[in-house]
Order: sequence, then structure tokens, then C-alpha cells
Amino acid sequence: MSTTAAPTPTAAALLGKLETLLGKGGVLTVPADTHPYFLDHRDLYTGAGLCVVRPRSTEEVSAVVKLCAEAKVPIVPQGGNTGLVGGSVPDDTGTAVLLSLGRMNRIRSMDAVNGTMTVEAGCVLQDLQDAAREADRLFPLSLGAEGSCMIGGNISTNAGGVGVLKYGNTRDLVLGLEVVLPDGRVWNGLNALRKDNTGYDLKHLFIGAEGTLGIVTAAVVKLFPRPGAQETVFMAVPELDDVMGLLNDARAASGDCVNAFELIPRLGLELVLKHFEGTRAPVETVTPWYVLMQWSAGAGAGNAQEALRAALENFLEGRFEAGVITDAALAANETQVKELWKLREVLPEAQTREGGSIKHDVSVPVSRVAEFIKRGSELLEKRMPGIRTFPFGHVGDGNIHFNVTEPVGMGKQAFHKHWEELNRITHDLVMSMGGSFSAEHGIGRLKRGELAHYGDAIDLELMRRVKAALDPDGLMNPGKVL
Ligand code: FAD
Ligand code: ZN
Repeated sequence: MSTTAAPTPTAAALLGKLETLLGKGGVLTVPADTHPYFLDHRDLYTGAGLCVVRPRSTEEVSAVVKLCAEAKVPIVPQGGNTGLVGGSVPDDTGTAVLLSLGRMNRIRSMDAVNGTMTVEAGCVLQDLQDAAREADRLFPLSLGAEGSCMIGGNISTNAGGVGVLKYGNTRDLVLGLEVVLPDGRVWNGLNALRKDNTGYDLKHLFIGAEGTLGIVTAAVVKLFPRPGAQETVFMAVPELDDVMGLLNDARAASGDCVNAFELIPRLGLELVLKHFEGTRAPVETVTPWYVLMQWSAGAGAGNAQEALRAALENFLEGRFEAGVITDAALAANETQVKELWKLREVLPEAQTREGGSIKHDVSVPVSRVAEFIKRGSELLEKRMPGIRTFPFGHVGDGNIHFNVTEPVGMGKQAFHKHWEELNRITHDLVMSMGGSFSAEHGIGRLKRGELAHYGDAIDLELMRRVKAALDPDGLMNPGKVL
């Protein structure tokens, strides 16, 4: 279990001030309480800290940051702690204050006509989806961790997820931000405008900054009309080379209504069926590849659902005839939709349960997805015969979770010794294909070395200058990103 280190005199004085400021329950120091905050989601890092603070308002965040800045004590912001790159936990020196946004979870306002809501950083993503639905609107950000990740974390990682194809990344869903700067001042950029060209658009600096430039305390996010009709289908696609063409044809046939397009390899389906009781294969046909696709359309006329289903059935028929798909299961009701999505959502966990796994969250141009998967699999299989490649995910955005599982019987520890080598082979290929070695999960602590290795010199210099300008003392989430 992680410990809370014995504080130095300066740190003890700070602790006293924080307790006066935030009261009981606002400052956690007992290891049993702080431990969950100091352990990252993947169990890769266990940090330590002076304490965990849980402010309830922007004013309190600002006051905490001012106190820490005066004492030159680093701060690590944390939302739902579901990040996958170790960004949300402190290092093990025990010197940092971990600032949890979890108690800042109010929806400040909802403007259905403007299509916006103003929300605090600690709102759980699923609660925001629900609130939008109650106002007959859609907040389209959606990812496997939505039951516990928080909007401030989503913004700070520029989260992607399963709706990017139609609605974009988190960056595309944010109109305004409120940020507590590293010196404790509050930057009020909470505008709700669709158009505003008044100089540099500063909010974009903080989106995807992983807590290294300031603390996001609130945001204005975009809402959309709720789709009147939705169809979900699980397809067997024998040839990897046909997958991206299938997406393009689907977009054309649906009038650009494809909102999700997720690749699932045969091995993935097998491991889900093996490790999750109650799951079943949606189609009997065994093929190397499957695609989970969703179409959604506006309300339109009263028969929008029938029209969408007819269009989809027509499309599937054509693809059957062309030999592109060999089987398909159309969800008949909401329960079946959930069952199909569950297969996709538990894929990463199924892989974890199978043994040692090494993950690559990469992207390439959409047109090169199949080529990347083939070349990457070949390279890794050549390096380590028996390695089980596990490419899945949001291929509609060119984003592949190119994960690999240990050869049967190798053992987790022995496999993980090859972590850096397998990363290097994979990322070298990605970069040579004009891709990214971190498509949606960010840099955090885990991929800092990769950023230093592959980053363009001018990119890195500009990033360091931005960091130095906003956070000259380097107190905001040190040791992350740069
Ligand atoms: P945390 O993990 O708490 O923090 C993430 C980073 O943001 C840290 O660097 C932290 O310091 C910083 N931070 C957090 N809150 C703030 C704030 N208010 N101000 C400043 N900095 C802050 N990610 C995707 O992009 N797409 C997916 O499809 C996806 N699927 C996932 C599925 C599962 C099952 C899991 C466990 C994770 C998945 N993730 C995915 C990763 C993760 O859920 C996202 O990165 C999410 O956006 C993190 O939100 P969080 O609130 O948990 O942030
Ligand atoms: Zn993902």
C-alpha cells in the first residue's frame, strides 16, 4: 500500500492551511483513504503524496493552488483516475498535493436552444449524457470508462471514444473553459459562442494538456439533437482489406449517418466469450474479422426508424452479394444493442484476464489501417513467434488499439521484459506511415520517453516554451508529458 510521507516543516504548515481552508473531509492524509487516489488504473504506478485535497468550488481550487504555489509544492489534478498513461497519479517522492475534482460535480446551467451546458470538471461523463437526454439533447462523448471518468479528465486528455466518427474528439465538443492557472488566478474563458475569432483561442492550450498547464474547473460543452433512429449491426468480414471500403460504402449508403465503426478481431471475440460469462457470439460464421457498426439519423418523418432499417438492410444485402460480409446480426431491441456493445467494451479487460498484454494506442491515415495491421502483425510475429496480436477499436478514425498478448504459456513477467522492444518495433512502423504513437490516451508518464524519442524538435521546443510561460516553477503535474 502507498504511504503518505512524513511532511517537512514547510509541507506540514501547508497541510495545516489546507485543512483550515477545506475543512474536515476536504483533506485526506490517512493511507487507507489516499491509496486509491495514488494508484493508477492499470496498476503500473503507485505514487505517494502529501495529501489528497477535495475542493468543492473554483474559489477553493484557486485558494489551494495559491497556497501550493507559495510553498512551491507540486499539484497533480485528478478526475476519475481512469487514464491509461499514468498521468493522474503523483510520483513516489511524497511531495505533491493530489487535487481531486470529484466534489465539483454540478451542472451550472443548461441552454437547450444554444445547444450547450456549463458543467463542473468533476461531473461524471455518464451523468452528463443523462442530463442531456433529460433535456431532449445528446452529449455524444462516449467511452468504456464513462461510468467513472469525469469531464475535466476527458477535456484534459482530449478523449476520443466511440463517437468521434460523427462528433469529433472532446476538443470538438468544447466551446469554453474555466481554468485555475498555476499561480492560482482564475481564467474565465467560459464562453458559449459558436463563433469567436478574437485572438488566440486559449482554451485549446488546456484541452489535452493532461493537467500540466492548469486545472480545468468548468467547461461549456456542445449538445446535439437526439437521433430519432438508430441501428446497430455486427458483421463478419473475412478480408481485412475490405474493412475500410465497407466504412466508405456505409457512409455513402446512409447519407453519412455512420456514428460508430469498431473493428473486433476473431481472437478478441474468443477471449471475450472465454472470460465473460453470459456473452455469446452474435453470428455463427467464423471469420478473422468482425465490425460493430452503428447508424443514427435525425427524427425526420414518423417512420425514421423503418427508413433507416430499410436502408441498412439494403446496404447489407449489397455487401453480402459482393462477398465483403458473410454474416450479420442486426440488433432487434435495446437489450441486443447493449449486448453487442458489451462485446466491444470488455475487449481490453478480456485481454488483461488472458495474461500479459502490451498496448499500443496508435493511429494512421484511415486509408492505411489494413496495411498497418498486416505489417505490424508480421513484424511482431517474426520477432516473437506465437505472439497473439489483438488489433481492435475505432478504425473509422484510423485509431487502432494494436495490443498484443503473450504467446500461450510464456508468462506475464517474461513477456513484459519485451515491452520496450515491442513498443519500438510498433511505433517505428507507425511513425514511418505518417501516424501517431498516441492516438487518444495521451502521454502522461508512460509515453514521455516516446514523445522525447519521436517528437519533432520544434514541436518540443514550442511545448516547453508554453509550459515555461504558464508554469514557470514547473508545479503543475510535474514529470508528465514533457
Ligand atoms: P484522470 O485519469 O483522472 O486524469 C487524466 C489526466 O488528466 C491526468 O493527467 C490528470 O492529471 C489530468 N486531469 C484530470 N482532471 C483534470 C482537470 N480537471 N484539470 C486538469 N487536468 C486534469 N480514452 C479515450 O480517449 N477513448 C476511449 O475509448 C477510452 N476508453 C477507455 C476504456 C476504459 C475501460 C478505460 C479504463 C479507459 C478508457 N480511456 C479511453 C481512457 C480514459 O478513460 C480517458 O483518458 C478519460 O478521458 C480520463 O478521464 P478521467 O476523469 O478518469 O481522468
Ligand atoms: Zn479507445
